[in-house]
Amino acid sequence: MSGPGRYAPSPTGELHLGNLRTALLAWLSARSAGSGFLLRIEDLDSGRSRERWVGVQLGELGRIGLDWDEEPVRQSERHALYEEAIAELRRQGLIYECFCTRAEIREAASAPHGDLPDGAYPGTCADLSRSQLDRRRSSGRPPALRVRAGAARAGFTDLLCGEVEATVDDFVVRRNDGDFGYNLAVAVDDAEQGIGEVVRGADLLDSTPRQFWLFDRLGLDPPGRYAHVPLMLGPDGSRLAKRHGAVTLEQRTGAGEAADERQATGPGQSVQEVVGEMAASVGLVPAGTECLAGELVERFSWRSLRQ
Ligand code: GLU
Repeated sequence: MSGPGRYAPSPTGELHLGNLRTALLAWLSARSAGSGFLLRIEDLDSGRSRERWVGVQLGELGRIGLDWDEEPVRQSERHALYEEAIAELRRQGLIYECFCTRAEIREAASAPHGDLPDGAYPGTCADLSRSQLDRRRSSGRPPALRVRAGAARAGFTDLLCGEVEATVDDFVVRRNDGDFGYNLAVAVDDAEQGIGEVVRGADLLDSTPRQFWLFDRLGLDPPGRYAHVPLMLGPDGSRLAKRHGAVTLEQRTGAGEAADERQATGPGQSVQEVVGEMAASVGLVPAGTECLAGELVERFSWRSLRQ
């Protein structure tokens, strides 16, 4: 691994145990390889991110035994880097304004469009004439900014999922409320921070080809290794969700804001029991083990992971 690993939570609530397990695996992979580990606070979504969740999430990561090498960076403080990346794409003629509403996008995307993946933006605003553009601009609705990807193919190799390749759609790099897009910020940050390994949930697998397209256009070095890890499942085999009951560390252990709830339901689990359960769910330890993250470093290997 040629650079640090990282975990990049969005501060929109307590970490779900699925997120916490992803963080645990990212940390174990980095630390078992003797590498650095960084946290990045992905507070791009100005409507949903809250400062108080930053503290709560860092507390949760610390309680399960993770540590990090530097003060976490925050995407909200890195807007200049994202502006610069958009300016570079614009110089290359790869940015256009999109005035579509959500409903228009849904409707347009439901029609088949060549080999673009389902739900991909079909390029409605890609080639507006001067007068169409003027009319839309004068409507008062601010535009989102999209890339002109030209249905390019992009791919990468994932440690767990193998070769992944996809057609890149004209994804959003800046939303019409001014917030920067996830793929833009993540690609810029992973390259700028010199990240060596990205470990994240398999729900983001489809986004990664877009990030590779960006690395390429922006002349950035991508992280050397990617692992998209399975999502944590509930007892019924479906993705672990609120309806499965206690799904955060606080809810399980009865600490933090959920403490009052716990008093009604009896004593909670220990943090060690919760970490053991997360580790057992991927086959790192036998069921019933109680441990913190540090005790798992020696026995971690991607090969031994049960998916
Ligand atoms: N911020 C994203 C999330 O919390 C993770 C993004 C990433 O790891 O690239 O789901």
